[in-house]
Amino acid sequence: MEQEIKMRLDQLAPGHVKFDEPLAHLTTFGLGGPADALVEPDSISELSEVLRFARNRRMPLFLLAAGSNVLFRDGGFPGVVVKLGPGFSKLDVLGSDGDRVTVEAGAAVSIGSLIKFLQKEGLSGLEFLAGIPGTVGGALAMNAGAFGGEISDLLHVLHVLDADGQVKKLSQSQISASYRHLDLPDGSIIVKAMFILTRSTTGQVKEKIRGYLGRRWTVQPTGVKSAGSIFKNPSLEPAGKLIDQAGLKGRSIGRAWVSEKHANFIVHRGEACAGDVIQLIDLVQSEVRKKFGVELEPEIIIEGVDREADPK
Ligand SMILES: Cc1cc2nc3c(=O)[nH]c(=O)nc-3n(C[C@H](O)[C@H](O)[C@H](O)COP(=O)(O)OP(=O)(O)OC[C@H]3O[C@@H](n4cnc5c(N)ncnc54)[C@H](O)[C@@H]3O)c2cc1C
Repeated sequence: MEQEIKMRLDQLAPGHVKFDEPLAHLTTFGLGGPADALVEPDSISELSEVLRFARNRRMPLFLLAAGSNVLFRDGGFPGVVVKLGPGFSKLDVLGSDGDRVTVEAGAAVSIGSLIKFLQKEGLSGLEFLAGIPGTVGGALAMNAGAFGGEISDLLHVLHVLDADGQVKKLSQSQISASYRHLDLPDGSIIVKAMFILTRSTTGQVKEKIRGYLGRRWTVQPTGVKSAGSIFKNPSLEPAGKLIDQAGLKGRSIGRAWVSEKHANFIVHRGEACAGDVIQLIDLVQSEVRKKFGVELEPEIIIEGVDREADPK
């Protein structure tokens, strides 16, 4: 990255920019090369300035949250990775109307913190998210869901920073959500969201969370690195069932393998490279296509560039 660009980024987000920053530790997969620049803006104005600068310069730009649905390639990201800082982590009860309680959560609030907060306040509705290792922003962007619930079901209002650097308030009726997708205006970034929860008790919310976590840990692999489900579920059969029936459980490439416990998870113990995972994704897609004529579509987002081949 040119020195002049580095200096400008440092001026726009003082103390919040790192160069040639490894990305692997910022994702749950723990894979991939470095970013030319990692910027962690702590306010809307800082975020907006950085985005404007990168877009004007036509620099590749990627918004990373907890990195639990992202795989960076081994050559890293040749541009600017933006990760919202602690300034986007406000979490509060805004008000109530009878049993309906409005909670505001910044985009960088972790799902774990949100769930703990809702349990403490005795607010029910989002317990099914327990155990998802993302943030509010990432979960909304992906319309994360489990056990029949989706985060968008409880969404009331969304505040986004649009591509022109303006904060826009979108009400539920203006946001269309589908399976693992939220229809955001192009180039916009979620900065905070309001959810409507139902008043309950700490004990009841805790019990529901315990139930969902129990169900999650019986089907998901533990003690390994992953990005959760690799593929979206096709309409007819869950992706995991197709992968299992294609005889691919346990199949490996390099140090990455298809989980024995949940066939839609690709896992490793820290020694794989992103290239292993990508080859395994291709293999699974090709075997499932051959066997069932079904095209598995990745749910995870694959970003960045491959490592350059060593000069001979
Ligand atoms: C063990 C494990 C279990 C999982 N279980 C589930 C599950 O049950 N259900 C499920 O749906 N998912 C699951 N996931 C996948 C993942 O956790 C979710 O998709 C999660 O919501 C992603 O959030 P994140 O903060 O990590 O986002 P990231 O992975 O960092 O980003 C995901 C996408 O969202 C975009 N994004 C992030 N923040 C914003 C923002 N503020 N504004 C606009 N776009 C944004 C990013 O650019 C990227 O395109 C699981 C993952 C793991 C590792």
